[in-house]
Amino acid sequence: MLDRKKYILASNWKANFTLEEAINWFEIVSRLNYPDLRIIAAIPYPYIHYFATRYNNIDVFSQNISHVLGGAYTGEVTISMLKSVGFRGSIVGHSERRHLFNESNQIINKKVLILQENSTEIILCIGETLEERKEGKTERVLYDQIISALNGFSRFELLTVAYEPVWAIGTGIPISPHDLTEAERFIRKIFEDKFGVKNIILLYGGSVDKEFAKVIRNQTTLDGALIGSASWKPHNFEEIIRIFVEH
Ligand code: PEP
Repeated sequence: MLDRKKYILASNWKANFTLEEAINWFEIVSRLNYPDLRIIAAIPYPYIHYFATRYNNIDVFSQNISHVLGGAYTGEVTISMLKSVGFRGSIVGHSERRHLFNESNQIINKKVLILQENSTEIILCIGETLEERKEGKTERVLYDQIISALNGFSRFELLTVAYEPVWAIGTGIPISPHDLTEAERFIRKIFEDKFGVKNIILLYGGSVDKEFAKVIRNQTTLDGALIGSASWKPHNFEEIIRIFVEH
C-alpha cells in the first residue's frame, strides 16, 4: 500500500465572518471527508462553542489565548473558558499578534506553557520580517523565536509549527520554493539538534493559494499549510484541499 502522508490544512479566519457566513463555510467544508487530511479552523472566540459541538471532522482552534489564567483582566479569554467550550487548541504567536499587539517571545512562551499544562494542541507561528530577511537575519530570528517560545516545553506531540514569513502574509507574494526548502531544512534541524525531535509537524503560511499549494505538495516535505484569505471562500479552500489529497 502507498504510504500517504496525512496533511494538515488550517484555515485562519482572522477577524472575519458573521455567524451566517461561518455556518455556510462549515456546511460546505465539513462535507469533504478525506482520510489523509486533517482540517483545522482557527475561528473567532464567539463561534467556538457552536462549531466545536456540531462538526466533528473539523478541528476547531482559537486564534489566540490569554497568557493569564483568570482574574481581573478585562477582555481576556482564558484556557479554562476555551476548554469548557470544546476547543482543540490554539494558534500562538501569529505575526499579527506579535506585531500589531506587541506580543513578545516571553508572552508567547507563557501561552505555550499554559496549553502544554492543559494537554492542548498548539500551532506556534514563527517567521522573519522583510527587513530581517534582507539583513541576513532569518535564521537567527527563527532560532530565537523557537528557543524562547519553547523554554520549559517538552510535550512535542502537542506541537505544530507554522513557518510564516511576515512579508508573505496577506501580500499575495509567497516565498520562493528554494527559500522555503532552505527554511524547512533549517527549522527541522533546530528541532532535531536542540530537542531530539525528528519530523516535527511543520506547516507553511503566507499567501498560499492553489498554485502555491502545488509547490508545498510537490516540492517540499512539509506537513501542510496555514491559510488565511484563500481559505475564507469555502469553494476556494476546497480547491486547495483537493490539490493535497488528489495529486
Ligand atoms: C495567515 O493569516 O496566517 C496567513 C497565512 O494569511 P494569508 O494566507 O492571507 O497570507
